[in-house]
Amino acid sequence: MSSRIELSHLRDHYDLVIIGGGITGAGILREASGRGTSVLLVEARDFASGTSSWSSKLVHGGLRYLKNGQWRLTLESVRERQRLMREAPGLIDPQPFLMPIYAGAKPGRWLMQMGLLIYDLMGGVRRSSWLDQNAALKRVPALAPDRLLGAVAYEDARTDDARLVLRLIFEGRAAGADVLNYTRAQLRSEGGRVSGVQLIDSLSGQQREIGAGVVINATGAWASDIPGAPAGAPKLRPLRGSHLVFPSARWPLTEAVGWLHPRDQRPVFAYPWEGAVLYGTTDLDHLGTPDQAVINPAEVDYLIEALDRQFPALRLRASDALASYSGVRPIVDGGKADPSAESRESAMWQQPGLVGITGGKLTTFRVTARQVLREAAKQLPQLDPGPERPVFQQPDNPVDTHHGRRLQGRFGALAARLQAETPADELQPIGSTPYTWAELRWSARHEAVVCLSDLMMRRTRLGLVCADGGSSYLPRILQICAEELGWDEARCAAESDAYRQYWRRQHAPPGI
Ligand SMILES: Cc1cc2nc3c(=O)[nH]c(=O)nc-3n(C[C@H](O)[C@H](O)[C@H](O)COP(=O)(O)OP(=O)(O)OC[C@H]3O[C@@H](n4cnc5c(N)ncnc54)[C@H](O)[C@@H]3O)c2cc1C
Repeated sequence: MSSRIELSHLRDHYDLVIIGGGITGAGILREASGRGTSVLLVEARDFASGTSSWSSKLVHGGLRYLKNGQWRLTLESVRERQRLMREAPGLIDPQPFLMPIYAGAKPGRWLMQMGLLIYDLMGGVRRSSWLDQNAALKRVPALAPDRLLGAVAYEDARTDDARLVLRLIFEGRAAGADVLNYTRAQLRSEGGRVSGVQLIDSLSGQQREIGAGVVINATGAWASDIPGAPAGAPKLRPLRGSHLVFPSARWPLTEAVGWLHPRDQRPVFAYPWEGAVLYGTTDLDHLGTPDQAVINPAEVDYLIEALDRQFPALRLRASDALASYSGVRPIVDGGKADPSAESRESAMWQQPGLVGITGGKLTTFRVTARQVLREAAKQLPQLDPGPERPVFQQPDNPVDTHHGRRLQGRFGALAARLQAETPADELQPIGSTPYTWAELRWSARHEAVVCLSDLMMRRTRLGLVCADGGSSYLPRILQICAEELGWDEARCAAESDAYRQYWRRQHAPPGI
């Protein structure tokens, strides 16, 4: 049976109800939980299934924001990056970056080096350096060599965005909060004040009304669509960003490379991630609902054009990719002609009984969460986040092997139990991926899994980093689901069909 709780398990009233189980909602949940207040988080689909699992997965200051003069955003992001790397090694890890510099082309060496010096100063560590042509080609041999002067090297950080959300959610749950996926919320008001939520269980159709001291609308790109919401949410401009995921055998990158697209000078980048190579991204107006974001042929051409220019010898085509994915940025509409010129800062709004938050970045979730709780405390003082504390629960015995760090990063203090609970043969990796069978079983057993794509796309990212969405592993994975979730043969077959159809529709490499 799934470890997801039922609607009937909930209290009638919570001090804080958070709508939205992406990074924003999860961050608020984690900051608010374990402080003596009652907290509930509800998510309409699976945790992290909105924008927060389809980002570029960088925990970064954003050099681009520095160029646009957004000093405060860059400084805040760089500080958060340093802090998160310290608190959650194995989940948020340093990512070396290299930006090749060409004679007569942008970006110029001195401007980049000056920007990076400021970036280093903000982070309090000197990480950037200049590499001459030989050194650059030694580190990334497939770079286009003509007119190459060298490269600037610097450091940011990478994560697994879905696991970041899940770790915050399950640590919030362990600290006493209730969390419920596949549950849609509508707002309820009384006498001009938001007084709670009407919850609809998407699986059973059951409904229940829950009272709340304060409700937080943390629904990202859906922020203006919540039924029953009083007017007041800012106008959003949903911008789609798409990525291609390549097998590392076809694109053997050992560090990140960033460069400017020859067509519009927007930054694009590629880096090794979870045994594959992530490459993106685009930035264009998204028409339609955020649920249906899929890469289109123009985006594929755009990405391949830049790839050919920077890595011509590889002759990579979209059909070489393992998968594609698209996410919708919840950007506040500033009326700019160029989508990329719109600010990435978050926006907050208040009404009696409600605080809304949208926009922003994965990187700054902790700062945003504390701002939201301080605002909520104006309506209910016990919601004040109080003094800063580590956002992640720290494991009792931090380990230093690569595998141990990775498990602790993803599962926090529960990593030791995970290893103790699973049979030794399941500590093996699944094929050549970094995921083990043990992680999969643990997730099926403890992590509110409802359907196969929860396991394939978010608890693990097998659906992104394996050929054909990991279909060759499905028989053994379904066997684990049968044992842990009680799926019979018919349910396994139905889950397998639904997952394959979903994967083909949303994630198959273009042209397949
Ligand atoms: C292509 C791309 C690349 C990016 N790269 C980076 C990056 O590298 N680094 C970085 O820091 N940031 C990055 N970002 C930004 C970052 O991903 C987003 O700002 C962040 O994920 C937004 O999180 P959220 O929780 O606000 O929204 P979401 O993750 O979308 O969460 C909102 C949730 O609310 C749920 N919901 C909606 N309506 C209801 C309802 N009625 N009831 C219950 N639940 C509901 C949705 O299902 C959804 O899961 C990127 C974004 C994109 C699109």
